[in-house]
Amino acid sequence: MSPRKRKGSKFKGTDGPRKTDTTFQQIILERVKLYMSAADVDLIRNAGNYALEAHRGQRRRSGKPFVVHPFAVAFNLAQLKMDAATIAAALLHDVVEDTPRTLADIERRFGKEVAFLVNSLTNFSKIEVQSKEERKARNLQKMIHAATKDYRVLIIKLADRLNNLETLRAMPIESQERTARETLDYYVPMAARLGVYIMQKKLEDISFRYLEPERYLELAALKAEAMARTRPSNDVFRQALRQELEKKGFNFRIRLREKPVFSINRRMTSAGMEFGQIYDITAFQIFVQKETDCWKSLGTIHSWWPHIESLFKDYISMPRPNGYQSLHTTVITPEQRQILIQIRTHEMELRAEKGIIARAPNNNSQLESSYAQALEDARYIMEQHYENWADFLDSVRKELNTKRIVVLTPKGLRKILPEGSTPIDFAYHVSADLGHRFIGARVNGKDAPPDNKLRSGDVAEIIVGAEPDPKIEWLGMVKSALARALIMSYLEERIQQP
Ligand code: MN
Repeated sequence: MSPRKRKGSKFKGTDGPRKTDTTFQQIILERVKLYMSAADVDLIRNAGNYALEAHRGQRRRSGKPFVVHPFAVAFNLAQLKMDAATIAAALLHDVVEDTPRTLADIERRFGKEVAFLVNSLTNFSKIEVQSKEERKARNLQKMIHAATKDYRVLIIKLADRLNNLETLRAMPIESQERTARETLDYYVPMAARLGVYIMQKKLEDISFRYLEPERYLELAALKAEAMARTRPSNDVFRQALRQELEKKGFNFRIRLREKPVFSINRRMTSAGMEFGQIYDITAFQIFVQKETDCWKSLGTIHSWWPHIESLFKDYISMPRPNGYQSLHTTVITPEQRQILIQIRTHEMELRAEKGIIARAPNNNSQLESSYAQALEDARYIMEQHYENWADFLDSVRKELNTKRIVVLTPKGLRKILPEGSTPIDFAYHVSADLGHRFIGARVNGKDAPPDNKLRSGDVAEIIVGAEPDPKIEWLGMVKSALARALIMSYLEERIQQP
């Protein structure tokens, strides 16, 4: 179970709600004191007091005081070491929507930054928006739009969603299923594209448990059994691995990771596999100091155990679309077991878990800019026009769930595109001008038609004309919302000019 649940049990004491709420607040303050300035801790304390006051008397369906929810969301974010404005906004995120307090009041007391975050997370009221679908669509639009300006909006939303899922037991079955479905359709793909794996995996497993409880329990039992069965052999292997790496003088850490139940199910359904065919229910992760140590420890491992060449993956030279970097190798033990080993630096591990949250401020490296591109793409997806809200939601869901590929410019710049993209999509992802002036392309050194489907790892070179000249036929050749939007707006502008 998640740490959140265990934490929750602490508050079932006999002290009554008021006392336990303040205890929870104290726990958050202790946590943020570990990494925040005194002034920032004060901001959190004030926001906590304000939330206690504003939500006083309100209860969740479970019977717990409402304020436990924003506190839990804030605590979750404090564990990720998010900044003071984020934690304060998490504490206040339901105040405007669910209490008489106004946004103006929040801004006066906590400043523009916190008010912006709170407003971005405040849903449209039932009076403002009539139909359920329109409400859902417009809330999603509003939130994503704000997230493209400040990604922390989305991180708070993910933490909010996680706590809602963790406390969903008290809700009717249909509501449980709707929330879980919506999480997998919209929020999980966004978490995935921003590389926030630590939240993605929790959201996936918990949603899956609500949607297919029997399947979940069956797989969880199989997994527990497999883990118990392989434990002795894993212990022996870990010992040998440690010994060999120590001999070479590496500074390293080894961890055994278990595959989440959701991932096991996805592998089984997408590849048509039996449970017994999945060999990486457990895998070893080795964390080292420097990139060169990754390659050196790989060499050491390969000299001791035979490995399966076809399963070797170099995600360091060719990171996954969401920025994940690691070496993966699968070795065969003397007892003929296949063991997956992932090798990466501590820094790569931090990014593998936290993605955009782990990025250094003002770091404009290519990997970091793939997050910016993910947000930009999401904005274009949200801005598209559709016949009706149901159609809109359907398209957004499909676009968000389309697999991403990495295509490189001749200079080696990474562009992240939806699977099925063509050279025209690629040109528009480099720049609007390059797209508008597209006349042809070379892919991996060969001439390629404009509707050629690109593949991950392709190198594409765009040939441009002197003047912009987008064609209406291109709309049938592009896959990305970004290219479609830029072509549409160019054509519309041209029609409007006399
Ligand atoms: Mn909430």
